[in-house]
Amino acid sequence: MGYKLSKTSFDRLLQAMSKRYVPVGPMCAKNAGAFSDTDSIRYGKITSYADLELAQKSYFSPKEFVFPIRETLFRFNGSNREVPEVAARPIAIFARPCDINGFNRLDSVFLENGPEKDFYYARRRKNIKFFMIECLTGFESCFCVTMKANKTADYSVALRFGEDEILAEVKDEEFISLFEEYGEIIDYKPEFKESDNAKVELPNFEGVDLEAVFNHPLWKEYTQRCIACGRCNTSCVTCSCFSMQDTAYDAAKTLSERRRVWAGCHIDGFTDMAGGHSFRKNNGDRMRFKTMHKIYDFAARFGRNMCVGCGRCDDVCPEYISFSACINKLSEIIKEMKNV
Ligand code: SF4
Ligand code: SF4
Repeated sequence: MGYKLSKTSFDRLLQAMSKRYVPVGPMCAKNAGAFSDTDSIRYGKITSYADLELAQKSYFSPKEFVFPIRETLFRFNGSNREVPEVAARPIAIFARPCDINGFNRLDSVFLENGPEKDFYYARRRKNIKFFMIECLTGFESCFCVTMKANKTADYSVALRFGEDEILAEVKDEEFISLFEEYGEIIDYKPEFKESDNAKVELPNFEGVDLEAVFNHPLWKEYTQRCIACGRCNTSCVTCSCFSMQDTAYDAAKTLSERRRVWAGCHIDGFTDMAGGHSFRKNNGDRMRFKTMHKIYDFAARFGRNMCVGCGRCDDVCPEYISFSACINKLSEIIKEMKNV
């Protein structure tokens, strides 16, 4: 069903919806940027149309609502163990198709990657509904079309934010009465972006000697340029690695908690093992691992690439390392290897 709303009606709808859902979307967090007088575009609670920042891409993805930066898994108090509750109120995430597809990749990692579903992810994920933001142009570094992540049908409501009005397609029965009350019935179906600003060509790995790809001098460039800051991992909607932390609150260590915290393949210490062994000491090897995971390994397991082409890793790298340029270089190298 399609609806048209004025900005004022949209604000009223948002207020009414907030009684049951926590609406979150891309917003401008004032003075929360890298320096004290800079802002940060990130996901947060929205209460009105004016809160939404639609002209700029968010630095962080919305993944923290299902996979928080740090999460207490359980607490010990003597022999008692307690798993903390999470907020019961469901969350409505206003997100573009690439990010909704990013959740789809996270679902594969946390829910389909073994005999057991990840309990902590699953209990948050079932409380999420998507309000898809129609995205027809993307941003300079986006390549979601190449990654086949420009379209999705996984939304409760799709929204087109125009100059003066908002158009909505409501698929989820739960929200129909709200839009009936605040909107006017019209015909509307969302459209999707059909071409990328960043030109990216995916390598065709078929028949290629992967050992030769792994040992190619391409990766050495990143050993010199990458500073292992991990920004590309933390801003990525599909990076899902975490590390464990045990924290004791008393000297006897009877009162303690175990947390998981975001980790990333580019960050020092990520592959360190007991005895001091590390699988990927230099930063070029880490870039190789990330690249192959995002555009080869995940696809071999789940049938679609992990990377959704949001372009955030290109936007945030302080060394101007472009992941999309790396994919293009790899593509050329593989063509040379195959004499294409
Ligand atoms: S690898 Fe880069 S472009 Fe791909 S999903 Fe992650 S942040 Fe986005
Ligand atoms: S953001 Fe850039 S410098 Fe930082 S870890 Fe990623 S590739 Fe390396």
